[in-house]
Amino acid sequence: MQGQEVQFKDIISHCKEYGFIFPGSEIYDGLGAVYDYGPLGVELKNRIKSYWYEWMTRTHEDIVGIDTAIFMHPEVWKASGHVDAFNDPLIDNKDSKKRYRADVLIEDQIEKYLEKANKEVAKAAKRFGDNFDEKLYRETNPRVLGYFDKAEALRKRFAEAAGENDMTALKRIIEDEGIVCPVSGSRNWTEVRQFNLMFSTQLGSIAGDAGELYLRPETAQGIFVNFLNVAKSNRMKVPFGIAQVGKAFRNEIVARQFIFRMREFEQMEMQFFVRPGEELKWYEFWKNRRMKWHQSLGLGDDNYRFHDHDKLAHYANAAADIEFKFPFGFKELEGIHSRTDFDLKQHEAHSGKKLQYFDPESQEKYVPYVIETSIGLDRMFLAIISNALREETLPDDSKRTVMRIPFFLAPVQIAIFPLIKKDGLPEMAREVQSLLRYDFACQYDEKDAVGRRYRRQDAIGTPFCVTIDHESLEAGTVTVRNRDTMEQIRLPLDALSNYFGERLSMSRGWKSID
Ligand code: ATP
Repeated sequence: MQGQEVQFKDIISHCKEYGFIFPGSEIYDGLGAVYDYGPLGVELKNRIKSYWYEWMTRTHEDIVGIDTAIFMHPEVWKASGHVDAFNDPLIDNKDSKKRYRADVLIEDQIEKYLEKANKEVAKAAKRFGDNFDEKLYRETNPRVLGYFDKAEALRKRFAEAAGENDMTALKRIIEDEGIVCPVSGSRNWTEVRQFNLMFSTQLGSIAGDAGELYLRPETAQGIFVNFLNVAKSNRMKVPFGIAQVGKAFRNEIVARQFIFRMREFEQMEMQFFVRPGEELKWYEFWKNRRMKWHQSLGLGDDNYRFHDHDKLAHYANAAADIEFKFPFGFKELEGIHSRTDFDLKQHEAHSGKKLQYFDPESQEKYVPYVIETSIGLDRMFLAIISNALREETLPDDSKRTVMRIPFFLAPVQIAIFPLIKKDGLPEMAREVQSLLRYDFACQYDEKDAVGRRYRRQDAIGTPFCVTIDHESLEAGTVTVRNRDTMEQIRLPLDALSNYFGERLSMSRGWKSID
């Protein structure tokens, strides 16, 4: 069964219809880029969280967890550089009154040139058939080379302007490239200006500026300020890591792609503390290890790629994104950063407290260097559901909507049906449910014909349906239907736990990484 991918707008409406994600404050017409997770959404989200957090803390004995407060001392954000530098370049189109990030407009333009080059290659591949030498064509065809050159020249010019925070240069690039507003189609732009992304609020007991607090824009700083607490209380030896899942808040300028870019979202971050000088080795290690984690989900290796950064953040000496092929193209899903000793040193300077580690092996004191892996939980959610949702045509030409969510992440793992609502079948189905409910997320359903119940479970991604029929009463066996193959097998009741345990456990995914 070759499924067809569905459009982005259909993913959004499917999420609402089945209770994965609702627009925030919907009865008040919503609130920009804020979303609520429904009953199935929260299940899936919690499982993704566990797949990340438990993998980090269970399979790496040198990584421990933490859960730090959203509010932090305001000096934290001065030390981290967020007060001065956590800005995005903002530009408005005067005709549509729409706001854009200048850097995103330019990055999209680079992507357009690359797409044009790739289209030329694809056209040629069709024309030449089996004799096509793609490498040679890419290296010699003047049209393809022209597009690559344009993309490269623009990338360089952009990296320079962005590196120097030169807003006038960014504006000039947008003008020179003739970039138009996607809504109004006009080039009537304002100047580019810096916009700080932190939300601020007020501490109750202190009036005025002194009481100004920020909602954390990343979870990492809670880890840095607790670095010594964790090292001492848990007798951690460098290299070691601290992992945290939690909310972060950013007043994003443009937030139009559903849960891809939200103003309130969750991050899953791990800071790995290493000896100075060893950071690039560990950077490579974590880059590869995180990619393997992604691949263990089975969403298709071709849907991921690395993007190495040209413009490094003020704290980094190496950085890459893991990009995923979302319905709107390859975009950042996770960042891997070699953050040097910047954060810990800054906190030493601003707090006046030493954040040094005494290394028993080398008998030296030092401020460790840090490798960070940082992934958006909501973005991972979007990656999974956009990859999973398919319209499939079955051998009998009927259609089904199915969510091919990795088995061990599915919000409902086993659906349990009595074939009909009488003859003692519901009672036996309830018994099966009692048998399985402590170990698996089960859903009992007795409404409508079985075929329709299967379709409902396919649409929410349930890996297995168990049906209890008259034979079950006599033989003590049930039918187990697999979501992906749609095959049905009969199993005795006492075989169910093992059968499902093997197929629904997260350890299956984790083991494939090592
Ligand atoms: P972008 O370039 O897309 O704004 P970023 O480089 O600012 O992202 P980081 O600061 O590296 O992102 O944050 C780490 C991860 O947190 C990102 O890879 C992404 O998955 C997630 N993330 C960041 N901002 C948002 C947001 N507004 N909504 C949802 N997830 C986000």
